[in-house]
Amino acid sequence: MLNLRNIPPIDEVLLLPAVIALMEIYNRDFITRKTREAVSQVRTEIRHFDKELTREKLLEKILYKLETLVDEGVRGTLTRVINGTGVVLHTNLGRAPLGQQAMRFLNELAPGYNNLEMNLQQGERGSRYHHVEQILMELTGAEAALVVNNNAAAVLLGLNTLANNQEVIVSRGQLVEIGGAFRIPEVMKQSGARLVEVGATNKTHIKDFDTAINGETALLFAAHTSNYKIVGFTEEVSLKDLVVLGQQHHLPVMQDLGSGVLFSLEKWGLKDEPTVRECIDAGTDVVTFSGDKLLGGPQAGIIVGKKIYIEAMKKNQLTRALRVDKLTISALEGTLLEYLSGNPREEIPVLNMLTRSGEELQGRAEELCALLQAKTGQAGLINKITVVELEDMVGGGAYPTYKIPGFGVEIEFKDHRLEDIARKLRLSQPALITRKQEDKMLISVRTLLAGDIEAVATIIKQVLG
Ligand SMILES: *Cc1c(COP(=O)(O)O)cnc(C)c1O
Repeated sequence: MLNLRNIPPIDEVLLLPAVIALMEIYNRDFITRKTREAVSQVRTEIRHFDKELTREKLLEKILYKLETLVDEGVRGTLTRVINGTGVVLHTNLGRAPLGQQAMRFLNELAPGYNNLEMNLQQGERGSRYHHVEQILMELTGAEAALVVNNNAAAVLLGLNTLANNQEVIVSRGQLVEIGGAFRIPEVMKQSGARLVEVGATNKTHIKDFDTAINGETALLFAAHTSNYKIVGFTEEVSLKDLVVLGQQHHLPVMQDLGSGVLFSLEKWGLKDEPTVRECIDAGTDVVTFSGDKLLGGPQAGIIVGKKIYIEAMKKNQLTRALRVDKLTISALEGTLLEYLSGNPREEIPVLNMLTRSGEELQGRAEELCALLQAKTGQAGLINKITVVELEDMVGGGAYPTYKIPGFGVEIEFKDHRLEDIARKLRLSQPALITRKQEDKMLISVRTLLAGDIEAVATIIKQVLG
């Protein structure tokens, strides 16, 4: 209690020259709020001190605290993270890192004006949706394309445009939920379309679709079950059969493809995910997919398909609410141009990480291990650092059952310190996110980007201090 009496009232602290100086640099209300926080934190800290602190000493503590809080406050909350998890498309870590070409476009276009909605040939108003349409058509073979905020928005827009107040038939095996509360039945409800489920969880036949079609039916819908797999006694209707059925009844077929690979990754061991072009070639009328999953670009929802349906979507009022801005379009254009004329397998970070050879990964793991041993050799907290083989994942709801063989380092700490150290690594700058296996820490090298190996070693050394 005796110290609490010595804490100056907040109004007095706010008049200190050091605080006034801060108010001249930063926003006044921000500094006032941080000063209150600093006083309150010091109050809590000294509650149980038995030694008397002078007023000067307490002021010093408050000012020191204030500086720390201001530093943290102006840093913002979104911070750089080093991904040591080996999950390439980690939704919690912002999914796809952008490639060089996307960054070049952003750097060039974001700081200035651009022709987002101007036709430079005619000097008239143009459409923002024009920009990446041609490239998307070339890369997928589709007649038309439209880009919206994300794939959830793409599905919503497609359903609302093609089936508002009408029925949409879907297989029970495909009523997907994607992380972050995207559920096909819920999106369907929001879109105004009425869901008609057919078949069973494990088996749906084309005749189930056939018998469900009536005068109210507007659309046949397929969702790529991207984050789970039903195995055993199963059967799904093929896209080809669905298209044939749709044509017989003059009904469009829409597919929510999820990830959206633009070329086959089979050569690198990643099978089973149909490419967008394969879906278009099968005759699918509308295909939707994400920009920031396997495509490796910015968050976006890409819709490709028959011109008549895409044009109808462009006219839908909902499109205005789901529209993309210049940042998305420039990063997406940069990414797509890499597919058109560059070297996507190497230059798109997601594809690069997924197709790294075992030897390359092993070499990196050895490099990281040696560096860690050299930097932390004297730190008494480590029992052992070794190179290990581990299993990485694609993530982002793609290839759910695939474990990709990878390499990393395993660190064994003394005294059950693993949780404590992992937490400190998460709170460092940049943050380092690691994996845990039993009581050991794993750092996969697949998801480490340029310069990250040195950064990982530096951060770990600092934390072990
Ligand atoms: C990821 C995914 C979505 C959601 O896409 P966002 O771009 O995250 O909105 C929808 N459907 C499927 C099948 C998906 O895999």
